[in-house]
Amino acid sequence: MQRRTMLLSAAVMAALGSASPLALAADQTMNVDVCIVGAGAGGVSAGMASVDAGFKTVILEKLGVIGGGGNYMEGTFAVGSRLQLKDNVGINVEKQFKRVMDFHHWRINGKALNNWLKQTAATIDWMEQHGIKFEGVHTAFIDGNRTWHMFEGGHGSSLIKNFAQKIEAKGGQILTSTPAQSLIIDKNGTVTGVIAKNEDGDKITINAKAVIIATGGFSCNPEMVKKYLPYAGYESAGSPGRTGDGIQMLEKAGAELVNMNVTMQAGLWLKGVPTGLQFGKDGLTGATYVRLLAALFQPYLKVSPKGDRFADETLPLEYISNAAEEIGGEAFAVFDDNTRKEMINEGLPRGYFGMVAPGTKFTNFDKLFEEGVKKGFCYKANSIKELAKKTGMDPQRLQKTVDRMNQMTKNQKDDEFYKDSQWLREVKKGPFYAIKGSLRTYATVGGANVNEYFQPLTPDGKVIKGLYAIGQDAGGLYSDSYDMHIAEGTASSWAINGGRLSVEHIKTYLKK
Ligand SMILES: Cc1cc2nc3c(=O)[nH]c(=O)nc-3n(C[C@H](O)[C@H](O)[C@H](O)COP(=O)(O)OP(=O)(O)OC[C@H]3O[C@@H](n4cnc5c(N)ncnc54)[C@H](O)[C@@H]3O)c2cc1C
Repeated sequence: MQRRTMLLSAAVMAALGSASPLALAADQTMNVDVCIVGAGAGGVSAGMASVDAGFKTVILEKLGVIGGGGNYMEGTFAVGSRLQLKDNVGINVEKQFKRVMDFHHWRINGKALNNWLKQTAATIDWMEQHGIKFEGVHTAFIDGNRTWHMFEGGHGSSLIKNFAQKIEAKGGQILTSTPAQSLIIDKNGTVTGVIAKNEDGDKITINAKAVIIATGGFSCNPEMVKKYLPYAGYESAGSPGRTGDGIQMLEKAGAELVNMNVTMQAGLWLKGVPTGLQFGKDGLTGATYVRLLAALFQPYLKVSPKGDRFADETLPLEYISNAAEEIGGEAFAVFDDNTRKEMINEGLPRGYFGMVAPGTKFTNFDKLFEEGVKKGFCYKANSIKELAKKTGMDPQRLQKTVDRMNQMTKNQKDDEFYKDSQWLREVKKGPFYAIKGSLRTYATVGGANVNEYFQPLTPDGKVIKGLYAIGQDAGGLYSDSYDMHIAEGTASSWAINGGRLSVEHIKTYLKK
């Protein structure tokens, strides 16, 4: 009884980021029905479903804090939900299926997609029945689909905390600072458990009838990023525990890996600035530089490190990220003093997602920009030539780009990339400014090839018994890019639904 109380407070405190991690006393063995590796969005959803099903459940979390990337998600995807029906959002499973399949040129796992789409509305109901609250359905895009179900307070941490409390109240265990290290596989190739280690280095053998891998992908593993992603410098936004452990275990167990080159692209971020200093609600958090991130995001001139314009700057996040990948993953926003004044006096027209409201007047531009200059990601110069020198661009190329932009602005016609003319701005009146950006990802989305029950498959299509892969450890949904602007919130939805649905399958698997 005392032990249960300790566990509950450890995980709940961990969710709040202030826990002293729970350490088990010495090498030991546990026998459970379901062992879940990773206590993020997918892991706690699987844990919730597992304790509801009456399974003896343990969740292992590598960090001292639970939640992973799930603490950062703002909203989750569904189609045909109660909230969408109430608001007359005109999409249904069939329409969405065709739209997504077309976007990915039918190079993705259609069966898994369809099975998941059909369940997403029921999963919203399931979350609501478990006390998760939504603020409504939104889209961050002008012509978006309104698939993004926003969590109360704009943060998925509300789901993480709520589920963690309920899991422990129902007898499930969440062991923080206890990374899984390998799978136990019997001579028939069936997965029968997990070997983990706690903070004190004690080995923990967990014998389990089913194992669910939910370690959140590999965005924080620089070697894997270099090996698989198109831009080796991709930095990861959010939780640091996502180092590809689960994917490596799945591969060792014989799973085929798919979509390993794709990420949930977060666009250009201030180069070298830690996530916490630039990502967060304007004015409310420590995200000091979120307005500079918003300035970088505005649909004005962007150029490659050589000084060439490379895309329509109004493109959705995944398209502008693709274009930036093509030029090496880094780019600059370049503007003149008139645009600076416009941002200060008239505001940042597009804001930055839920963090900077559209139209926010950038009144502290000069102060923040000056700090950016000192930190080396902002540049100011009296001439285009000097700006090119400071940023390392080719002066002639940058001058040519600027001249062309000025001509197109005068003509009110972008005959290069056909951006809406309302976003054309001259770069004529000094001083001139540049902000350096580099690509970040919210999460990687490649992983084990899974069937519609989230069972990983070998390259010859055989199921690996006793094993499930969910969330960012399960691939198959994306061909060459994430599909944010037609299906906002799919990454977390794939994880949460994977948690619920893999346990549905475990119920039948364990009966056999
Ligand atoms: C800034 C940001 C904003 C986002 N916004 C959205 C959004 O609005 N909508 C959306 O759909 N998605 C969003 N995402 C993505 C979303 O967070 C992920 O899709 C989701 O969290 C994936 O769930 P998961 O369970 O696969 O991984 P995670 O939630 O990342 O959880 C994985 C967990 O596994 C742990 N782990 C790793 N290795 C081990 C190991 N060996 N042993 C034990 N534990 C281990 C990690 O520490 C982590 O806690 C966002 C992500 C970020 C970073």
